[in-house]
Amino acid sequence: MTTQKIPFLDLITPHRELEAELLQVAQKALSTAGFIGGPVLEDFERAFAQFCGTRYCIGVNSGTDALRFAMMAAGIGAGDAVVTVPNTFIATTEAISQAGATPEFVDIDERTYNLSPGKLKEFLETRCRRDSDGRLISLKTEKCIRGVVPVHLYGQPVDWDAIQELANGYGLVVIEDACQAHGAEYFSKKQNRWCKAGAMGRAAAFSFYPGKNLGACGEAGAITTNDEGLARTVSMLRDHGQAKKYYHDLEGYNGRLDAMQAGFLKVKLAHLANWTAARQAAAKRYQDLFEQLLATRNSPLLTLPYEPDWARAVYHLFVVRVADREGLMEQLAAEGIGTAIHYPIPLHLQKAYAGLSYAAGDFPVAERVAREIVSLPMFPTLTAEQQARVADAVLRWVRGGVAKMGRSGS
Ligand SMILES: *Cc1c(COP(=O)(O)O)cnc(C)c1O
Repeated sequence: MTTQKIPFLDLITPHRELEAELLQVAQKALSTAGFIGGPVLEDFERAFAQFCGTRYCIGVNSGTDALRFAMMAAGIGAGDAVVTVPNTFIATTEAISQAGATPEFVDIDERTYNLSPGKLKEFLETRCRRDSDGRLISLKTEKCIRGVVPVHLYGQPVDWDAIQELANGYGLVVIEDACQAHGAEYFSKKQNRWCKAGAMGRAAAFSFYPGKNLGACGEAGAITTNDEGLARTVSMLRDHGQAKKYYHDLEGYNGRLDAMQAGFLKVKLAHLANWTAARQAAAKRYQDLFEQLLATRNSPLLTLPYEPDWARAVYHLFVVRVADREGLMEQLAAEGIGTAIHYPIPLHLQKAYAGLSYAAGDFPVAERVAREIVSLPMFPTLTAEQQARVADAVLRWVRGGVAKMGRSGS
C-alpha cells in the first residue's frame, strides 16, 4: 500500500507558505541589529492586545514565564496556594511553584475536561477554613488560597462566569492559562456578550511555542491584561526588574520576548483567524464523519469533544475517548496516522509531585479521562480526505473491538 502518512501535526506547510515574509523579518533584524525590544516587539504586543481585546500585552520568553510573572505581579508568592486542575501540561503547576506558591488540585468536568465549577465550590466550602484574620486556608496544605488558574484546555474556554463568581465570593485572583486557546470565546451571561480568552481574568498567559495555534519559530509567550499596574510589574519582571536601564526597582528575570520572534508572530497573527476557522471547520467535519458512521452522537464506544453553546472552541487539539486507547493508537500508527496523548498522567500522580501527597483516586474524573483520551490529527491544513481516512480507521477499530467483545461474551 502506498497511502500517504497523516501526521499528528503539520508544522512545515505553514512555514513554507510564509517563508518569504518570515525571512524578511530575520533580514530586518540582522540589518538593524534590533534583536531585543524596540518597535518590532511593541508592534506585536499592540496587535496581540487588540486581537484579545485587552488594553495590554507584554511579550515574554515562554508561556511558563507568562504564568509565573502574571501570578507574581498579582501578588501571589511564598506561603500561598493556587488552585488548578490535574489534567494540564506541567508548566501550569511549575509556574505556581516558581512563583513561590503551592499547587492545589480540583477535579474536572467529565464533558468539557475543564475545571468543574461545582467541584471548585465544594473544595472552597469543605476543604478550606478561615483563619483568625479571615484568610482562606487550605486544610490539606495549611497555605493561604490566593488564586485560581483555570486552563482553557484543548482550546475550549472554561465556564468563566461560574468560576469568576466563586473567586469574587472568596476574594481569589483568577489568572487564565490561555496557552492553548488563542482566539477562543466564551459567552458571558453576566456581561451578555462573547469574551475572548485572555480578556476575562485579572491577567492571562499565552504560549507561542511552535505547535500552539499561534506559534513562534522558537520559544515565546505573552501576558494579556487590562490592569495597568499588573502590566507595569510584569514588564519589569521580564527585564531584571527595571523600567529604566540599570535602575532595578525589584529583582526580576531574564524573561523577554526577542524581537525576531515578535516579528515572526506579527506575520503569523495576520493568518490566525483563517487558521482558527480551518481548525473549527475540521472539528465540525470530524463530528459529522463520526456521527454519520456511528449513526449516533453519543456512542458509548467513542466520546467526541463536547462544545457547550456558550463556547467557541479553537481546537488546539481534537481529543476523543475510547476504552482501549493504546490499542487504537497502535492501529492508527499501523495505518500511518499520527496521534498523541494530552496528557497520559495527571499531575497529582507525577513523580515530581510526590511531595504534595496526593494519591490515585483523589481526582477520579481526571484519572479516568487520562486513561481514555487520544488526540487525533488536527491542524489548519488537514484535508477532508485525510479526515475521512482517520474517521474510517477509528471506526473500523472501534467496531472491531465491539465484535471481539461480542464473541468473547457468547
Ligand atoms: C504550552 C503550555 C504551557 C507552557 O507554555 P511554554 O511556552 O511551553 O512555556 C502552559 N500551559 C499549557 C496548558 C500549555 O499547553
